Amino acid sequence: MSYSEPMPKSKTLRSRLFKQLVNFIYKTGFTRLGQKFWSKSLTVVNYHRIDDPDQLGLDSFRPNISAHPTAFAQQMDYLGRWFNVVSLKDVVKWLNGEGCLPPYAALITFDDGYLDNYTQAYPILRQCNFPAIIFLTTGHIGTDNPFFWDLVAYSFYHTGSDHVLFPNGQERTWTNTTQRDQICKELIESLKVLPDQEKQFWVNRLPEKLGVSIHQNYFRNLMINWDQVREMHKGGIEFGGHTINHPILSRISLEQALIEIEGSKTRIEKELGEPVLSFAYPNGMSHDLNGKIENLVARAGYRAAFTLQNGPSLLREVKQNPYAIRRIFISHSHTLPRFAIETCWVNRFR
Ligand SMILES: [Zn+2]
Repeated sequence: MSYSEPMPKSKTLRSRLFKQLVNFIYKTGFTRLGQKFWSKSLTVVNYHRIDDPDQLGLDSFRPNISAHPTAFAQQMDYLGRWFNVVSLKDVVKWLNGEGCLPPYAALITFDDGYLDNYTQAYPILRQCNFPAIIFLTTGHIGTDNPFFWDLVAYSFYHTGSDHVLFPNGQERTWTNTTQRDQICKELIESLKVLPDQEKQFWVNRLPEKLGVSIHQNYFRNLMINWDQVREMHKGGIEFGGHTINHPILSRISLEQALIEIEGSKTRIEKELGEPVLSFAYPNGMSHDLNGKIENLVARAGYRAAFTLQNGPSLLREVKQNPYAIRRIFISHSHTLPRFAIETCWVNRFR
């Protein structure tokens, strides 16, 4: 991934060989090998933002860009060729025992609710006539309030400083923008796992520490607003809960978690006038959720919930536990051959 320190020669060679191997597997059709034994499956792809990761002046968190619009269109074309794209409603109907899912069912999902889901992804989805589901962090929708990672990235991008203090007391310095971007990414990872108040304390002080001032309303157009949500909803896009404030649910109390889980559901239902049936766990890795949290999601009235544990799922796995459905994280560094491998059954066992 280009968002890291310059790679040592051996690593560059390894990643070049890996790329060649991926291209070879794709071109020879090996990614389709054995797929027929995997037809009763649900492949869920997960995007965050659809935009140009190399655009000049990009000052929000670059790793959150999942695909360039051109790459996204190619990926949709690939899904159309090899999968049957279904809606969340189809999945819930099937979970309720009404009807079945087609072979090689696929779901397209987006997390957080960035504006480019409306400006870039939505027109492409309409062209393909594909449904998709966007999981909204409702406390940020239609506000100027950025996610903490975008605020941190902005501060790093605009600073004239060459060092920063980490919450663990370690001072990190950089001599070029590649190092700076890598340290920014590491700081975001270390802030993610702090208790909420402590995290907020660090984030609030960061712009000043880095000598950066932020214009009021600077982040006004980063997220979608409720009118855009309603417009997309009319055009076939579904919406799900993704909490109010995006905490990692396993790191807050169960009472607080329930407020976050129910709160985003109630808000979207109020805005759309229709039940919200699905939820996506913030961060979504195995340590970010547990059985108790899954129970809260069920208690709140959701019928399905999605993690970021990698790979497609067999339909019987989804039926067994619809509150921990796997999703495949898509990155802007993925080429189409890599996308083909990511969405292949082999990826379930990686
Ligand atoms: Zn998220």
